[in-house]
This record gives sequence, structure tokens and C-alpha cells, in this order.
Amino acid sequence: MIGDNLQRAHARIAAACRAAQRDAGAVALLAVSKTFGADMVREAFAAGQTAFGENYLQEAVDKMAELRDLPLQWHCIGPIQSNKTRLVAQHFDWAHTIDRLRIAQRLNDQRPLGMEPLQVCVQVNTDGGPTKSGVAPQETLALLREVAKLPHLRLRGLMTIPEPVSDFSAQLAVHSRAKALFDAMAAELGPGLDCFDTLSMGMTADLEAAVQAGSTLVRVGTAIFGGRPKR
Ligand SMILES: *Cc1c(COP(=O)(O)O)cnc(C)c1O
Repeated sequence: MIGDNLQRAHARIAAACRAAQRDAGAVALLAVSKTFGADMVREAFAAGQTAFGENYLQEAVDKMAELRDLPLQWHCIGPIQSNKTRLVAQHFDWAHTIDRLRIAQRLNDQRPLGMEPLQVCVQVNTDGGPTKSGVAPQETLALLREVAKLPHLRLRGLMTIPEPVSDFSAQLAVHSRAKALFDAMAAELGPGLDCFDTLSMGMTADLEAAVQAGSTLVRVGTAIFGGRPKR
């Protein structure tokens, strides 16, 4: 069942790429396994999925321990409090939700020697919601410049979680603002930062609009693993 769902998710991405005249390989699929058990991650891996996203750090670390025998890539996509940075630095391959320098510095300082640099995205609040996490668009460049200096982090791009809207054109409008910001930031940072290649946006409900706008990584939970109980 998870295998079929993964196939359907890949088909949605492929169709969206075709519609946008983008290469089929231009958009990666992150399977968001939060609240689901290690057995379901194992099933997804058996169907070919290797990159998984988690929000709740202790749950994630426990799951990783159960799945140590598999070559999985783990992405932290939940909010990172400063007292939880060590768990992220020690266990994850990616962190998408850097929204202030202090968090980036702690992740950098706590990344164990001998591990690859932590791949990071800066989370941007593109729709201006007052309660949403993420750095304001006008403050993004300054934060990116500081994060880029940290030797144990590798700055990969931007991430957004827009307020849910059901209308495709409204989804496209907010995703397009994120894409414009991403392109502007890439230009400002210059070719010296050749790994700034990731725009993490789009989920189950809005992945077509995200791909149309230029997402390079969609984070899909429900369409792969099914509905989650409300937390
Ligand atoms: C839960 C979550 C997702 C996946 O959402 P679905 O609607 O289940 O696809 C993606 N990104 C973030 C940041 C999440 O917290």
C-alpha cells in the first residue's frame, strides 16, 4: 500500500513537472514519516524511498535507532528549540527549519567531528502570518550570509510552510513569491555558493502548485502514509 502511494506521489510530481516544462528529475520527494512507526518507514524503504522527514525530535531519534540497519537520510522539518539542537546535530543529515542565527550556531558547534556537514535550509515566512515561524523575507539575506560562514553546516537553500489555502492560484501565488526570493538570494550569494540549490516547499495538498512555482523538494506525508491523528 505504501509502495502504491509512493508511486502515485511520484506520478503527481512527474505530471506537475511536465505541466511546468521542468525535468522529471528536478524535484525530490521527501517522505514525511512523523507519527508513523519504524515498520512503515521500512515498508517505504522497501519500495525505494530513502529520504524521510521528521518533526518531533525524540520520536525521530527513537525511530532512527530502530532503523539503523538501513541507509536512510533523515531531514528535520519541525521547529528547533535551542535546547534541542544537539539531537538535530548528532542525528540528522538535513535541517530545513533554521530561522535564526543562534540555532544555526548551536547546530554548527554541536555537529560531531567526523560527520558530514549538516545540510541546512533557512525557513522563510513568505506569507507574513504573525504566528508563523520563519525569517521575514527582508531579513533573509543577512541570515543566509551568516549561516554560509559556519564550517560544519552546508547552506542548501530555503524552506517555506505557507498557510494552507485550497485554491490552486492562491497556492501558486505564495509559492511563486518564495521562488522569486530564492532566485534573488541565489543571485546575491553568488556563484561561490554553488550548493544553494534547494527550495523545500509543497506538501500533499499543494505539491502541484509548488512544483509549478519551482520547488526542488516536496515534503509529503499524508499521501504516502495516510492521515495522522491530530496532535
Ligand atoms: C507534516 C509536514 C509535512 C507533510 O504534510 P502532509 O500534508 O501530510 O503531506 C510537510 N512539511 C512539514 C513542515 C510538516 O510539518
